[in-house]
Amino acid sequence: MSEHPTIRPQPGILDIELYVGGDASLAGHAEVLKLSSNENPAGASPRAIEAYRATGVSLHRYPSTDHRALRTAIAEVHGLDAGRIVCGNGSDEIIALLTQAYAGPGREVVHTEHGFAMYRISALAAGATPVEVRERARCTDVDAILAACTERTALVFIANPNNPTGTMIGADEVARLAAGLPPQALLVLDGAYAEFVAGFDGHAGLVDARDNVVMTRTFSKIHGLGGLRVGWGYAPAHVVDVLNRVRGPFNVSAPALAAAEAAIRDTGFTARCLAENTANRAALTAALRASGVACDDSEANFVLARFASPAEAEACDRALRDAGIIVRRVAGYGFPEGLRITVGDAAACARVAATVADFLRVKA
Ligand code: PMP
Repeated sequence: MSEHPTIRPQPGILDIELYVGGDASLAGHAEVLKLSSNENPAGASPRAIEAYRATGVSLHRYPSTDHRALRTAIAEVHGLDAGRIVCGNGSDEIIALLTQAYAGPGREVVHTEHGFAMYRISALAAGATPVEVRERARCTDVDAILAACTERTALVFIANPNNPTGTMIGADEVARLAAGLPPQALLVLDGAYAEFVAGFDGHAGLVDARDNVVMTRTFSKIHGLGGLRVGWGYAPAHVVDVLNRVRGPFNVSAPALAAAEAAIRDTGFTARCLAENTANRAALTAALRASGVACDDSEANFVLARFASPAEAEACDRALRDAGIIVRRVAGYGFPEGLRITVGDAAACARVAATVADFLRVKA
């Protein structure tokens, strides 16, 4: 770190620890099995790739500023009001816009113990104070969150299902949280993994029913477009108005808009990915448990494997890397004994399970 003696950023910014993404390569391995960033093993819908390619002939054109075509597609597929959708450069941007607009010096941003890193980073970037709340047995604890709220609370972030735990709380608990917040606070329900829960609306119904709830969603996970950076928020009209004032007019690129629109309309592809993930996740979870590795039931496209000790997790991570497999260490999320493993295709899950089993057998 190099700090300048007189030219300084806003307070809070130098408290930010750099976000560490999942590794993508391994020295000595030409090909790796990357299970470190919860990407879709099937890639993106062929229709999305085709739509992306088709925009290549008009790269000199600015994209739409109001994202109307994409918002209409999202609204049709999910049964939502297109006028209350805001699109962003990944859901990361929606999180950043929310903190920029609603948090700031003297205001608090509540997130859970094992919550996604961008809540804290975005809060600090906005000059606000992050407030970390404990979870109960790796699950969001509504009472603990409500107890942490004050007259300074501006935003409360929870991911449901959560990353990296994969656990989820019920709609009644989420509704109780929304109803119990202080009047100046906005609840943000991060639905990055909502599509992996069959029949789940990501709490869109709660957004419709209240004026203090926002839902965020992404094209990076089930839609397989992490490289393009498209996310969206569904919010009450007063929040949509605010976000549209602060976001850049061309915040989502034309290829990204086109690919995302095709992706969300390819509901057959999405359904196949959901079915594959559900089956492969069950197989991976069962195999890990059979090897003696603890894991909660995951509702997302990854499994949090908990080993006997941080040293064992680190050694297993090394064994996986030696086998050309990259998973995610999650010590920074409060799990030094954990490895977060993305659910790959059936062959990938079998390979991970066999490598972990071999490692534990050799070790025993
Ligand atoms: N929320 C959660 C819980 C996530 O895990 C992620 C991706 N790691 C995001 C938001 C951000 O996703 P993106 O910016 O790619 O939409």
